[in-house]
Amino acid sequence: MNQAVRNEHLAVRQELMDVSRGNLTEARDRLENYWNNAGRLFETNSLPAPALFAAAIRAHVADAVVCLDADGKPIYPDLNFRPQPGEVFPEALALQAQARSLLATSRQAAAIAVVTNSLVQPRFLHATDAEGRLIVPSAELMACENGGPPALLEPLSAQLLDYSNNMPAPQRRFLMQRVARLFPRAPVFPTLAGEELAARYLEARPPDIWAFPAAGGRVLLLFDHNSLRDRWQAVLGTNIVLLPPGQDTRDYLLAIAAGGHQPGWQLALAAGGNRLFDDAAEARIASYVWIGILALTAVAALALLAVRLIRKQAAVARLRNDLLANVTHELKTPLSSMRLLVDTLLNAPQIHEETARQYLQLIAQENLRLSRLIDNFLAFSRMERNKCAFDFTQTSPSAIVDSAASAVRERFLAAGCQFDAQAAAGLPAISADAAAMVTALLNLLDNAFKYSGERKEIRLRADAREGTVTFAVQDNGIGLAPREIKRIFKRFYQVDQRLARTGGGCGLGLSIVQFIVLAHQGDIRVESEPGRGSTFFITIPALLTP
Ligand code: ADP
Repeated sequence: MNQAVRNEHLAVRQELMDVSRGNLTEARDRLENYWNNAGRLFETNSLPAPALFAAAIRAHVADAVVCLDADGKPIYPDLNFRPQPGEVFPEALALQAQARSLLATSRQAAAIAVVTNSLVQPRFLHATDAEGRLIVPSAELMACENGGPPALLEPLSAQLLDYSNNMPAPQRRFLMQRVARLFPRAPVFPTLAGEELAARYLEARPPDIWAFPAAGGRVLLLFDHNSLRDRWQAVLGTNIVLLPPGQDTRDYLLAIAAGGHQPGWQLALAAGGNRLFDDAAEARIASYVWIGILALTAVAALALLAVRLIRKQAAVARLRNDLLANVTHELKTPLSSMRLLVDTLLNAPQIHEETARQYLQLIAQENLRLSRLIDNFLAFSRMERNKCAFDFTQTSPSAIVDSAASAVRERFLAAGCQFDAQAAAGLPAISADAAAMVTALLNLLDNAFKYSGERKEIRLRADAREGTVTFAVQDNGIGLAPREIKRIFKRFYQVDQRLARTGGGCGLGLSIVQFIVLAHQGDIRVESEPGRGSTFFITIPALLTP
C-alpha cells in the first residue's frame, strides 16, 4: 500500500512537472513576445530623447530609459550636459547673482522680489547658466527655500515635468529631489524614480539594474531587478518567478532560461509548488481510495445478493425434495395399511363379522388420516402459491368449537382418550372463515392426540378476553422444550421425526395453522413444558356487535 502511494506520488509529481515545464515555456514565450513588442515600440518612435524618456516611464514600459546617439553615447539623461550656444542670457544670470547676494546679506524679501518680479518671465524660460542649467527654475527653488510664495511651486513643477524644455537631466533630478523634500505633501514627480535609476545606471552600471537594448541599441530600457520581478509576477502568476543572473535555483523545483532577450535570467517554479504536487497527489490518491472503497462495497453488495439468491434457490430445492419425500411417505403409509387390511379380509376363507367390522373401522381411520393429509397438502400448496382464498363471515366461536369437536370426538373417545370441548357462554362473534378455523383447530387437536402418551387428556376451550376470542387446545403429552417452541411453526420442522412418523404427519400442520391465524389478524402462542403437556392458544379479534 505504502509503495503504491509512493508510486502514485511520483507519477503525479512527474505529470505535474511536465505540466509545469509547459507553463514555464509558455511564460518564456510571453516574455520574449513582450520584449519583441517593446523593441518595436521604440523603433518607430521619433520623439526627442527627453520626451521619449518621460513617455516610456509614464507608459510603464520600463522603470527608466536611456536614449543613445549613433555612437552609443547617452543623449538623455546625459550626465555631462553642455549648453547649446546662444541660450546663455547674461541678463538672467545677473538677476540670479543679484538675488543670491541679497540672500547672502539676509535680505530674503528683496531676493524673492527679484525672482518673482524680474526673473520669472517668459523670455528667460530657456535661459541657462554656463553649465547649461536653466536659470529660472533654480531661482524659483531658491525663492521657495527662503520663504517665497508657495504659488511658485506651480510654475516650477510645470517646468520640471516639461520634457520639451532643454533642462539637463542632472538639474531636473536635483530640483525634483529638493522640491520633494521641501513640499512632502505635493504630488510625487512620476519621472523622478526613473531619473534616479538612469543616473545610477550611467554612473556605475550596478548589477541590480538590468538594461534591455531596444530600437537597434538606440534606446536602453532600464529595470530595477526587484521591480522587474514584481512587474512580471502579475503576468507569470504566483508560482513562477523571474530570477536575475547568478541566482541559485536550488530552492526552486524547476528552472529554465528566460530567453534570448534576458541572457542569464531564469524562470523558475517556486518551491511552494512542492505542496501543490503533494496536494494533487494526495487528492488523486484519496479519489482512488474512494473509488476502491465504492467498488469493494459494490462487489460485497453483489456478492451478498448472489449468496442470498443461491441460498433461496437451495432452500426452494430442499423444500421441493422434502415435500416429495414427505408426500410419498405419508401417502404410502395409510395406503399400505388399508391395502393390508383389505387383502386380509379378501384372503380370509371366512369373514367374521366382528373382525370385519374392526378392520373396516381401521380402514376408515386410515382413510380419514389420508384425507387430512391431503387436505394439509392442498392447503400448503395454496398457501405457497398465495392462492389461499378465505371466505370471512361473521362466525360464532362456539360453532367452530362444536364442528372441530364433533370431527374428532368419536376417534378420540374410541382410543380411550379423555376429551372435553367447551366454549364459554355468550362469546362475541368473530370475522372468520369457519372451515379454515376448524382446519386449524383439527390440526392442533391431531397434534395433541399424536404427541400424548397412553392416558390422553385433551381439552378444547374457547374464551373471550379484552375484545378477543381465544381458542385453547390443551394436552398432557410429551411437551416442548422452549427452544423447540420457536421452531415448530417452520415448514417441515419436526422435533422428533421418528415419533412424528408413527403418529403420521410431515411437519406442515402448525405452519398451516399459523398461516390461517395470521390471515384472521390473529395470533398463536404455545405454553408447554417437556413431559407435562402443551397448550396452544389461538387469539382472534372479536367483532364489535351491538
Ligand atoms: P407434524 O405433521 O409433524 O405433526 P406439525 O407442524 O403439526 O407437524 O408439528 C411440528 C412439530 O411440532 C411436530 O413434529 C412435533 O414435534 C411438535 N408438536 C406439535 N404439536 C405438539 C404437541 N401438542 N405436543 C408436543 N409436540 C408437538
